[in-house]
Amino acid sequence: MQLIDGKALAKAIKEELATEVKALKAAGGKTPHLAAVLVGDDPASQVYVRNKVRSCEKIGFNSTLIRKDADTTEAEVLEIIDQLNNDDDIDGFIVQLPLPKHIDEHKITLAIDPRKDVDGFHPMNFGRMAQSLPAYIPATPYGIMVMLERYGIETSGKHCVVVGRSNIVGTPMSILMSRKAKVGNCTVTLAHSRTKDLKAETLRADIIIAAIGIPNFITEDMVKEGAVIIDVGINRIDDANAKRGYRLVGDVDFDNVAPKSSFITPVPGGVGQMTVTALLMNTLKSAKNEVY
Ligand code: NDP
Repeated sequence: MQLIDGKALAKAIKEELATEVKALKAAGGKTPHLAAVLVGDDPASQVYVRNKVRSCEKIGFNSTLIRKDADTTEAEVLEIIDQLNNDDDIDGFIVQLPLPKHIDEHKITLAIDPRKDVDGFHPMNFGRMAQSLPAYIPATPYGIMVMLERYGIETSGKHCVVVGRSNIVGTPMSILMSRKAKVGNCTVTLAHSRTKDLKAETLRADIIIAAIGIPNFITEDMVKEGAVIIDVGINRIDDANAKRGYRLVGDVDFDNVAPKSSFITPVPGGVGQMTVTALLMNTLKSAKNEVY
């Protein structure tokens, strides 16, 4: 079993990005600039956004954080998006989800200019991704593809089972793994809560990508010997011995599944670490006009 060290990989890629930014600036190019819009006071969102801004600073990007109260109206958020869409200095921006209930997330996603949609949630980017055209790929799936590539994990001809079909993880993951590309060329099964016999599906998998949101859901008896395990889940479970009273676990029962696997991502320290890095990679692509 080999551990896929998301933390070390993210650090290495951020160093590469920092070098590239330095070269870009030295050649008289533009400093990449990412903006983040945070509405409300969801504690997890605050942590995510803080990480994104801090990561920008570390690699030499400019960053702008726009914080708004939870009672900000949908019209006000749309106005901010319009300003960011038209600000030539901003290469890309994200609106951190979830948004307060009175704001229609779909409307917000559609309002973002696809050329600045570095989260890759706009249908234009989703469609381009599905057709293998240059696109901003959603950060978590993009991070996973980079992980598979950097670890030299063979995907061609393999059977990949993705569990979970959300718009931001499971569904794009299933498309990417089946594309005709260096990392891809899998035969993909997309499983979800209505899948009849999930265990029968996962037992056939050479690669399992778990994006469910249920702690330790994928157990040892569901996994074939030698499978590659990518655990997207981030779940809090109570732990009286932990400093904060909880700890993070994935969707995979790591301790029992790891010995059976060929490669496995830990939680924390796996996929999550790559998500911010992938966002930075998208922003750099935008600054260099590589996608549009
Ligand atoms: P969603 O809640 O949007 O989707 C969960 C999916 O799991 C759904 O498709 C659902 O099926 C499926 N599911 C639920 N129960 C079962 C079951 N018993 N058997 C099979 N499938 C089931 O979650 P997300 O995709 O947004 O996130 C998934 C996990 O990944 C979460 O833990 C989240 O915190 C984490 N995450 C981690 C990120 C990272 O950076 N590492 C980024 C984003 C998410 P159905 O569609 O039928 O309801």
